[in-house]
Parts: sequence; C-alpha cells; structure tokens
Amino acid sequence: MERESIEMDVLFVGAGPASLSGALHLSRLVAEHNEAVGKGTRKGKSLGEIQIAVIEKGASVGSHILSGAVMDPKALKELIPDFLEQGAPVESPVKEDYFLYLTKTRAIKSPVTPPPLKNHGYYIVSLNKLTAWLGEKCEEAGVNIFPEFPGAEMLYDGQDRVVGVRTGDKGIDKEGRRRANFEPGVDILAKVTVLGEGPRGSLTKQLTNRLGLTEGREPQVYSLGVKELWELPDDRYPAGRVTHTLGYPSDANTYGGGWIYGMQNRIVNIGYVTGLDYQDPLLDPHAEFQRFKEHPHVAKLLEGGRMIRYGAKTIAAGGFYAIPQFHGDGFLLVGDSAGFLNAQRLKGIHTAIKSGMLAAQAIFEALLKEDYSKQQLKRYRQLIRESWITQELRRVRNFHAAFRHGRWLGLANAGLQFITGGRSWGLFDRASSEPGHEAMKQLKDYGYRGDDILQRYGKLKFDGKLTFNKVTDVYHAAVSHDEDQPAHLHVLDTNICSTRCAEEYGNPCQRFCPAAVYEMVEDGGGQRKLQINFSNCVHCKTCDIMDPYQIINWVTPEGGGGPEYKGM
Ligand code: SF4
Repeated sequence: MERESIEMDVLFVGAGPASLSGALHLSRLVAEHNEAVGKGTRKGKSLGEIQIAVIEKGASVGSHILSGAVMDPKALKELIPDFLEQGAPVESPVKEDYFLYLTKTRAIKSPVTPPPLKNHGYYIVSLNKLTAWLGEKCEEAGVNIFPEFPGAEMLYDGQDRVVGVRTGDKGIDKEGRRRANFEPGVDILAKVTVLGEGPRGSLTKQLTNRLGLTEGREPQVYSLGVKELWELPDDRYPAGRVTHTLGYPSDANTYGGGWIYGMQNRIVNIGYVTGLDYQDPLLDPHAEFQRFKEHPHVAKLLEGGRMIRYGAKTIAAGGFYAIPQFHGDGFLLVGDSAGFLNAQRLKGIHTAIKSGMLAAQAIFEALLKEDYSKQQLKRYRQLIRESWITQELRRVRNFHAAFRHGRWLGLANAGLQFITGGRSWGLFDRASSEPGHEAMKQLKDYGYRGDDILQRYGKLKFDGKLTFNKVTDVYHAAVSHDEDQPAHLHVLDTNICSTRCAEEYGNPCQRFCPAAVYEMVEDGGGQRKLQINFSNCVHCKTCDIMDPYQIINWVTPEGGGGPEYKGM
C-alpha cells in the first residue's frame, strides 16, 4: 500500500499538557537560539526552521479530556510566567479545603486537612479548556497540530531506533474491508518522537514491550477516576471549594476516595477514584461512584441539580519505583506516559508540564548536536533527576505500595512518609511488586458463592436523577465512534470469556469498564458469549490494565472517535 510520509523534526503524540508544553517550549528555545545567533550574541549555527508536530486522536485538542482538576501552578508559571494575564482559563483559585471521612451515614470533617491535600495557592482548572488554550499558544508559535490523527504504530529503523509513528487508516469497515472513503494512515517521520499519550498509551505499550522499558522497575499500578459534572440550582458549593473524602463506599482493602471541586457557573466536578489493584472480582468502579453520590452528605449537595457530563480516566499511581526507562534512541516519554503523577497529592498536571519542558530542553540540545541517540537523549533523564519532579516523587515513593496492606496501614504510612521524607525502612517498598490485575481474587477465593454477580451491588438502583446506569452516563460523554469499523478493543482469546473467566471471575470486564462496552449475551445456542459495544468506549484504558488474563488490547479507533468534552 502506498502511504504518504510527512517529515517532521520532532513529533509529540497526544495533545495533553505534557506534549503541548514540550512543543511550545521547544519552539521558543529554537526561536530564541536562532535570533541570538542571527544577532551574533550566541555562537554556533542557526537551527533554521524546525518542524514540530503534535498529533491527537480526538476531534480537537482537549476533546478527550474532561474538566475538573486542582493544578499546582508551579510548572505553568515556569512555562508562561504571566499565564493569568495571558488569559489561561482557570476556573478559580482554591479558596477552601475540606477533608472528610465518610461512614455509611455520616461525614466526619477532619479538623486539619492532610498536608498533601492542602491546595492553597493552587487553581481549579478545566483541563479541557487549559489544553485547548495551550494548543492555541502552540499554533501561534508555529507548531503543527493534527487532530484526528491517532498514532497506530511505532516506526523503527533496522537498529530498533524509533523514527516516527504511523497513524491509523481511515475508512475500514467492520469486516476489515476498505470502504469508498478509505485513506491509508500516514507515516510521520521524526528525529525525536515524544510519547505523551497519558496512562497506558497504546504506542507506549508497544514500545515498552519491544524495548523492555520496564525491566528492573516495579510494575505500574493504576487508579480509575469516574466523574460527572453537575450544574447546581444555586451557589451552595462555591467556585474554589475543594473537598476530598475517604471511607465510604470503599471497603478497607480497596484504595479509593472521592472529590468535589467547585467550578464557575454553579458547576461542580464530582468523582470517585478506585485503585485498579482491588481484590474483589465483583467490584465495579462506576457503581462505587454511584454509591458515593448516594451518601447523605453528597446526595444533599446534589439535590435539585442536573448531571451534564460524564467521563472516566485512569491515572498512573505507581509512583517513583514504577517509572519506566523514559528515553531511548529517537524517543522520550513524558507526563503520565512516564508515570510522573504524584498519587499522594492526586496531581499530575504540574509534573506533566515540567516533563514536557525538560524533554524540550533535551531535544533542543540534541538538535544542536544533530545526535538523537539514546546516549544523547540521556540528557532528559539527567534533567528529570535534577528537577523538582524527582525530589517530589521521591518524597512519596512508598505511598501507593502501603495501601496494598489496607486503608489504615496505607494512611499510617502516608503520614509517616510525610515525616520521614518517604522512607519506610523496607516495610512497604516491595509491596507493589505485582501488577494491579494480579491482586484480583477469584470469586470462590473472595468468599462468593454461586455465580450471582449482583452480590455486591444488589441494592443499588439507578434512579436517573442522582444515580445513573452506565449507558445513561455514556450518553453524557457524547461518545461517538463510526460503528462501521473494526472494534478497537482486541480480545485475543474470546473462548476464555465464556469458560474460565466466567467461572473464575464472573467476567469482571462487565464491571470494571465504566462504559458498558463489555457484555456477556446469549449466543442463541444456550451458551454465553462476549459482545463488545465498542462505540460506548470513553478511552479510559481500564480494560487493558485490569483484565485478569491480560488478553484485552486497546488500540486506537478511527481518528476523531471517542468522547467529546469540548468546552467542558
Ligand atoms: Fe475504558 Fe476499556 Fe471500557 Fe473503553 S472499553 S471505556 S477503555 S474499560
């Protein structure tokens, strides 16, 4: 097949905060350098016009990123010191912090907010709007942004050096045949390819498997955040108020907690995060979130309000010891793709922005030397090690691991780490040495009897006012995928679904997917088979992470498909 090739100098994959910051910073470093050389104030030669591209699978920058985060602005201040004057779309400075412990019926307010969850000086932002704004800044600086360009495959030369990315074909029907509108994907060739796909990126996964980037590291562990935006009838929850909760509905063995962020125009962002290293095979993170909203304290807050948007997204929570090798011949990993999120603070925007900037610095130096080898790009590792990213992540290096021993030991360790600067004297540091999906127990081992998968949530009802089933929620994610295309969820052996998985785990994909993509249905012959409703997918990547047999492979669908959160 004839494919078009586009030659770029530097390619960023995924228009999130890390890639956009990296592309913007690099374009400035190059422009400043060329100008200084032109004026004779800097020695060396001009780099000329450096072509920088950002590709994004969504229909526009930000369309796959749903609102609602608390941002530590330190990195954005480094990138754009006068970001407020320049119109960065922040919702509100954080004005109040609350930390609540929830029992089934009560909300107990902690007299002090734990230091990692103090947000004074930070901002509540819509990451959707922030990335759209950064995208505009990039375009003003001459960066090429290509929406609807999903990265489908890494491209290598004969020595396994990364030389670019092949984007997905368009116009393939569900049987795999070419439709009239068929367009082959494009090979985007680059001297350096930067993967900023977020957690569990599909290209990052390919690269990791091929080059062994996680060898000698702890396995990454993830958490899934399920969230909704609500419009409240009055100002009962002002912009700038931040609440974090612990306790109900999570059981003591499951890592989980809630958040409520007050945004502009009486909108609150409410969500619940569940660690994807839970043991109960019947656990359903979406149902946990619905239960969280049923808590009297939360239900009262939402009374009379209207749910307007839904989304779900994983975060990489493994921390310092789970950071993979993040540089190599012709490539770098940034942001959540490199696991730079601080799980204790539930914050990763600042580290994503900073890592993008440091990647830009390393690439700039590589461009000057015309050397894109692993040896040269090691400079990125050095920059990361010398930066506050490493200092910050080292201080909380054993945070998540301790939660494998339950909520109370996890909390005790989190407090201890704060005092000891991250040390835990060998008590917890190896505790995350199994991937999260291996923590899930089989039904019989967890104590369930029979095959009734409603045993955990039997009493949960979806009233369509406060609580919603997955299909209703997906409607509010404005998801769309052309249905006449191959499913982008590849289940490598569907026989397991109706046999081993049904018996051992009760088909947990039906529960851990927050978008009702996986469904066991009658096959017409008295058996049950897996049906994949791929058009519901909100691109959270949970299935790729949490499947106990690791036979689900998430690949990019046709460009532009997925949720649409523009302006939210
Ligand atoms: Fe998330 Fe996978 Fe479900 Fe898509 S199919 S919404 S990636 S769990």
